[in-house]
Amino acid sequence: ASPSSTRIDLDGNPIKPLTICMIGAGGFIGSHLCEKLMSETSHKVLALDVYNDKIKHLLEPESLPWNGRIHFHRLNIKNDSRLEGLIKMADLVINLAAICTPADYNTRPLDTIYSNFIDALPVVKYCSETNKRLIHFSTCEVYGKTIGSYLPKDSPLRQDPAYYMLKEDVSPCIFGSIEKQRWSYACAKQLIERLVYAEGAESGLEFTIVRPFNWIGPRMDFIPGIDGPSEGVPRVLACFSNNLLRGEPLKLVDGGESQRTFVYIKDAIEAVLLMIENPARANGHIFNVGNPNNEVTVRQLAEMMIQVYSKVSGTQPPETPTIDVSSKEFYGEGYDDSDKRIPDMTIINKQLEWNPKTSLWDLLESTLTYQHRTYAEAIKKVIAQPIAS
Ligand code: NAD
Repeated sequence: ASPSSTRIDLDGNPIKPLTICMIGAGGFIGSHLCEKLMSETSHKVLALDVYNDKIKHLLEPESLPWNGRIHFHRLNIKNDSRLEGLIKMADLVINLAAICTPADYNTRPLDTIYSNFIDALPVVKYCSETNKRLIHFSTCEVYGKTIGSYLPKDSPLRQDPAYYMLKEDVSPCIFGSIEKQRWSYACAKQLIERLVYAEGAESGLEFTIVRPFNWIGPRMDFIPGIDGPSEGVPRVLACFSNNLLRGEPLKLVDGGESQRTFVYIKDAIEAVLLMIENPARANGHIFNVGNPNNEVTVRQLAEMMIQVYSKVSGTQPPETPTIDVSSKEFYGEGYDDSDKRIPDMTIINKQLEWNPKTSLWDLLESTLTYQHRTYAEAIKKVIAQPIAS
């Protein structure tokens, strides 16, 4: 649909143009959501973030067709009095801001808890006080581990979906001990979900909570030493991409046995747009957003990425394709992990008629094509540089 034609919601009603206050708009998900809103809708975006590199292409030059519909405000929500005013200007608030890289959860637990809970508090409060609708980004990590992970390894019940399928309104949140600081992120996200839910129940806040299940695609995180710190550890897609670009073996943490479902960012963004434009169907709900058909172990993901990268780059796979590292070595003390994450899709199917479309192979092909085009030359230069003495 072109932005000029009137958009229609799932119940056949025309959609009024909204002003959206998007916090964390400069991140991976925010950049794709801004792109979608600019190219396919006539909604306005107040884009708040400390960085804007990933949305620069939407902000300049001024001749862009959506000129005037997106405004960037560089601010840190921890300490900026402009936040309240910007929320007041909007019809809808979307909060994406968070520290959300696993390498931080056990090494910077205080920052992780402050970012995911304390810093989100004023956003929820202002929305509640000024009657603004809120779409809050949580995580599939709030489920923690599956019930099945506590069964004996050889128990046939482990194959029974009742023991692993993650359901928004039924499944418990199962975290490890406090020493396993990895769970600081999940626990902070759980508490902010409970707060948002309680504001809904007690003060009538109109809210939607999103639980992303491993959304991946272009612009996710950074490549260490190129557009992020050399010592930084991004999420798995960027870690493996970095290894592939450098021709190094991919590092598998604790055997790469964890199972994950990956969904293409562009599919997931469709779900978010449906939430934005169908408030009557989305309010008061928590939604799993993932692709249950794209399940692999992290080891299988590595193997697939090696094949796909070799195809899109025209290079030979590394002689030693993968190496094993312990989680203690890779992530440090206090690391732990969820065993398996399959989203139940009943609620999002029913409320928003949404289904993911892109297979894992296809989404890796387009993502690794992007990674190769964006970074291969820069990596070559870095590798060619003599090491400073
Ligand atoms: P991201 O790190 O790319 O984006 C987050 C953005 O928020 C960044 O641009 C960051 O600069 C900004 N931000 C953080 N703190 C801020 C502050 N104090 N003030 C202003 N801006 C701030 O991450 P993402 O993948 O886009 O994730 C967005 C949200 O979705 C997060 O809440 C995350 O927990 C959640 N999530 C994402 C996934 C996924 O698969 N990508 C999975 C689970 C949950």
